[in-house]
Amino acid sequence: MHRAAFAHAGLNGTYDALRVAPADLRSAVADLRRPGVLGANLSLPHKEAALPLLDSLSEAARAIGAVNTIVHRDGALHGDNTDAPGLSAALTDAGYDWPDGQDVIVLGAGGAARAAVHALLGAGQRVWIVNRTLERAQAVAAHWNSPHVQAVSAHAAPWEAAALVVNASSAGLNDPDQTPLDAAFLTRLSAGALMYDMVYKPAETRMMREARAAGLSAENGLGMLAHQARLAFRAWTGADVPVSVFLNALQADAPAGDQG
Ligand code: NAP
Repeated sequence: MHRAAFAHAGLNGTYDALRVAPADLRSAVADLRRPGVLGANLSLPHKEAALPLLDSLSEAARAIGAVNTIVHRDGALHGDNTDAPGLSAALTDAGYDWPDGQDVIVLGAGGAARAAVHALLGAGQRVWIVNRTLERAQAVAAHWNSPHVQAVSAHAAPWEAAALVVNASSAGLNDPDQTPLDAAFLTRLSAGALMYDMVYKPAETRMMREARAAGLSAENGLGMLAHQARLAFRAWTGADVPVSVFLNALQADAPAGDQG
């Protein structure tokens, strides 16, 4: 999709996927300091390990503790996290209207969940983290140390009050039968609630299917993927390419390496 963005912006650039073993991360990051390199995206497991290898970090990358975008300028490497604003933009596109002080439920406790907490808390939402391993959810909540971020079991989460559920767990990724949550919890949400699944492969996850069967609206993570890419592209090039260019490219051909 970045190649489509280069073409749309009339820029002469390319974007290539590289497989980097954890032991080679340091040299791969150092390689980004070469003249002509604009930067890079990072995917698992490098998003957290790269932090100490960079010269500066955005406030979002520091708060989330993960970098998905590196920007190179004159030999210096700046780490940013566009997953958080990418999620916010995708939620807005999906019709979420950000009521002040709204209860929202985040499933998962990895880097994607931390990006979700950062985005939602920053927009004045009250975040309830539910994770298969409660201790990991508690560690995420403790990291924010805010009365508006709580780790709870699924049984204790405020389903009836919540307007949004974000699946930031990897359950369902490449597996149409896997779900992070008993569907009975989804039936407790109010009719106007949105279920946002960061997973987009398959395009309709089991959780999305079950949410729709419960009368809720549900979206997959394609919009977030496109928006985080749009924001990374802007950071690298200064060009503001419409999200539709990224979405169209993704829908035409979604390579496996693009999954956040
Ligand atoms: P991660 O650090 O590996 O965390 C995975 C989380 O999922 C953990 O909290 C884990 O629970 C939970 N989990 C895994 N399998 C589960 C299952 N069967 N049932 C319930 N919970 C389960 O991964 P991540 O980096 O946070 O990414 C999470 C997901 O977000 C991935 O699918 C990733 O592709 C997606 N993502 C999408 C975008 C996008 O642009 N759409 C961007 C970023 C990430 P435990 O703590 O109990 O192990």
